[in-house]
Amino acid sequence: MIIIMKPSSGEAQISSVTSYIRQHGLEVHLSTGKEVTIIGVVGNKNLINPEHLESMKDVERIVPVTESYKLANKKFHPEPSTVKVGNTFIGPGTMTIMAGPCAVENEEQMMLIAREVKKAGATFLRGGAYKPRTSPYSFQGLEEEGLKYMQNAQKETGLATICEVVSNEAIEAAAKYVDMIQIGARNMQNFILLKEAGRSGMPVLLKRGLSATIEEWLNAAEYIIAEGNPNVVLCERGIRTFETATRNTLDISCVPVLKEKTHLPVIVDPSHSTGSYKYVPSMAKAGVAAGADGLMIEVHNDPACALSDGPQSLTFKNFALLMDELTPFCQLVGRTL
Ligand code: PEP
Ligand code: MN
Repeated sequence: MIIIMKPSSGEAQISSVTSYIRQHGLEVHLSTGKEVTIIGVVGNKNLINPEHLESMKDVERIVPVTESYKLANKKFHPEPSTVKVGNTFIGPGTMTIMAGPCAVENEEQMMLIAREVKKAGATFLRGGAYKPRTSPYSFQGLEEEGLKYMQNAQKETGLATICEVVSNEAIEAAAKYVDMIQIGARNMQNFILLKEAGRSGMPVLLKRGLSATIEEWLNAAEYIIAEGNPNVVLCERGIRTFETATRNTLDISCVPVLKEKTHLPVIVDPSHSTGSYKYVPSMAKAGVAAGADGLMIEVHNDPACALSDGPQSLTFKNFALLMDELTPFCQLVGRTL
């Protein structure tokens, strides 16, 4: 449930309500907006008496939260969240562009791509050092060595860095070298990994599972936030459908749905959702138009020779072209690129 306080309520009234809730063994999540203070209650609500709460001074009303996710719920936190990563922010007013290769392949490649995507206007460098490949015989990633290359590229270019993690050991290694961790589609419901990501305190990009509903996805986000880490960003990367013309089906309507249900920022990935560089520009624009807070785009110096996801990777030239084309779209939705 959430407790909406009267606009006139002062600190003393708010703290008497929060003490009552805590005394009964429940957790409090306070959201202090310009107009109104909302007290979110997490835990077994049968332990408290809603009538007593309703009769407390300056309580305006109590609204039940029927969804199983609470901390990720917009009712708990009506203002959209901003997630700080390094020197950059993901959230309202900005358009975060994460760009880079699917996999970190070698040091020179990482440095070259970092310079090029930065020149074209990206704010984040992406790169996979731990690759959860469908086949065990495909390239599995350079692991910690790859993270070091990302850190070197970060030091030279100032780009924020993001890398996927697949285990607790990978989270510990990533914390030493990169700014943000990514939980991939295949691990969206790896609840142990989600909890570890929560405990790490690092900003987390949570990709949507291959066949996950929006509710399952938001519950996965809840696992991270429930560990005390509110720095979660969601990433739509396409879902499995009967359609085979594209690698996945970009569920573009999930963006406005998420904006209604959660305060967490949303990123659209036009690369994994389409599987083809040809469709990336139009889906990137669709993401901006739908209200996304950012895009994750695979870029490679030589897509034909990429160790993974070459067919969906943009060349430097096509990435720079897309960035130019995106500028008026971003202006239209009131975001700076
Ligand atoms: C990736 O970002 O390289 C990746 C593996 O993505 P996903 O988990 O969305 O398949
Ligand atoms: Mn990829």
